[in-house]
Amino acid sequence: MPTDTTSRTARFAGQALLIVLLLCSARASAGTPAAPETAQRWFAEGAAAARKAIAEAGGPQRARNVIVFLGDGMGFTTVAAAHIYAGQRLGADGERFRLSFERFPYTAFSRTYETDQQTPDSAGTMTAIMTGVKTRAGFIGVDQAARRGDCRSAQGHTLPTLLELAGRAGLAAGAVTTARITHATPAATYGHNPERGWEVDADLPPEAVRAGCGDFAAQMIASAHAGLLRVALGGGRTEFMPAGQPDPQHEGFFGQRLDGRDLVAAWLRLPRSRYVWNATQLTAVDAARTRHLLGLFNPSHLEYDYDRRRRKLDEPTLAQMTAMAIEVLRRNRKGYFLMVEGGRIDHALHAGNAFRALDETRAFAEAVAEAVRRTAGTGTLIVVTADHSHTLTFAGYPRRGNDILGLVTGASGSYDAVVRAGPARDALGRPYTTLGFANGPGYSGASDRQPEGSKHHPHLAGSVEGIAQGRPQITGAQARDPDYLQEAAVPLKEETHGGEDVGIWARGPGARAFHGEFEQNAIFHLIVQQIPRLRAALCRLDACDAHGLPVRPPHLPAAAPAVPAR
Ligand SMILES: [Zn+2]
Repeated sequence: MPTDTTSRTARFAGQALLIVLLLCSARASAGTPAAPETAQRWFAEGAAAARKAIAEAGGPQRARNVIVFLGDGMGFTTVAAAHIYAGQRLGADGERFRLSFERFPYTAFSRTYETDQQTPDSAGTMTAIMTGVKTRAGFIGVDQAARRGDCRSAQGHTLPTLLELAGRAGLAAGAVTTARITHATPAATYGHNPERGWEVDADLPPEAVRAGCGDFAAQMIASAHAGLLRVALGGGRTEFMPAGQPDPQHEGFFGQRLDGRDLVAAWLRLPRSRYVWNATQLTAVDAARTRHLLGLFNPSHLEYDYDRRRRKLDEPTLAQMTAMAIEVLRRNRKGYFLMVEGGRIDHALHAGNAFRALDETRAFAEAVAEAVRRTAGTGTLIVVTADHSHTLTFAGYPRRGNDILGLVTGASGSYDAVVRAGPARDALGRPYTTLGFANGPGYSGASDRQPEGSKHHPHLAGSVEGIAQGRPQITGAQARDPDYLQEAAVPLKEETHGGEDVGIWARGPGARAFHGEFEQNAIFHLIVQQIPRLRAALCRLDACDAHGLPVRPPHLPAAAPAVPAR
């Protein structure tokens, strides 16, 4: 039992500690300079945040497979408008309707800023998700210490990706997208360059080639030959074809490779490999006999799903690609990693066209539903998130059940205004739509392409004039046209990304750790810490402490192997 003196001493020590802690926290809030931001710090902090969240959730759950779904640019406003759109399209109650992933049991928030930008791009954000380290805009699989477009500066600063770790751990790995397979998001699963634009060799400046950098198409094939990547489905076909070779499907399109390599032929040298370039061929693939599957379904990005349906194109849906990828990968005994991107949600938003953005989000949700159906009972963690948001707004006081793509009908201007029949009116007496953009090509001033008034998809303006006649007079029918561009307040050639948090929706083993708000790079750590094979692969690369916990960026042996010549 302590004497009176010892308990007084203990009390005094406790008070002293409290004072020290208070002083420390006061100093911290007064802006004591923190340790410099480095890859090491991002990795360690992401790992610690994941460890804490996993502990709070009752400890790690072991997952065998993981699928990361990435809705490019799919901010919360897009998700809300898309579930109303998807519900209304089925004749259901749109406000109550839930997209497949909105029914997932666990959710969290993701902070998306990059080390150099408040509002991020798709390259740095996907690098954060794939490597556990935040980095600069425009960087793919390279940390913030490099300089953009400077190949030499990236040497020694490449970061192994989740897909590469999976491949090293014996998991089968794949990437699926509706964009070019060399575009920022999919490239960040297998590639490394300090410039997202280096998709095909023709894009690289000579000094980058001399310094040893390769284009993403070549890096993707090299990744497959290194035994890391088994399935790649998306667009960007001509980046894999030698210059001059005619596209098999679209007249007037030719291969772009100046090095003369035929990268499709290089893929076909992999064991049990298949190459397909349309939906008919894809659905005929015998997954049981295929170990390496390459599908390139368009010379560039796949068409929007709406245009695919309207023009009856032989391009697969994202759900079809997802289904086939799972069928090929799931035969691997040690499990698999798959990344699926709804890449054109972002493109439709940049184009200022809410209809296509909502329809692409619906198609993305169908791909998620397909994955949920095909992975039941297989120990598969499914994580759905976005890389960043956009400037789409959902506004006014439309009455319940109002067409999400229509004019606002209900109270005008104020939530307690009298509801009159017909469309609500702005202060100028003109109708307005529920959805709008803060900036982009929907600005109603005249451009060198379209006259003053409402704008139509596609609107690729070179120059724009100020608004002379005020807001356009729009009718409900005009607003509901699939090609209508919602009004934008600030005229820009392309609508921009937005900087607020995006959502994370998770289900399956490991999902319960997804709760609270995370820096985006913590997503990597939440996944790797709950897949024993991935964690072991990290530890083999000297990333772990004495307790086997990943605490520092892994060390990879030098550069990626080149594409085998021949
Ligand atoms: Zn974008």
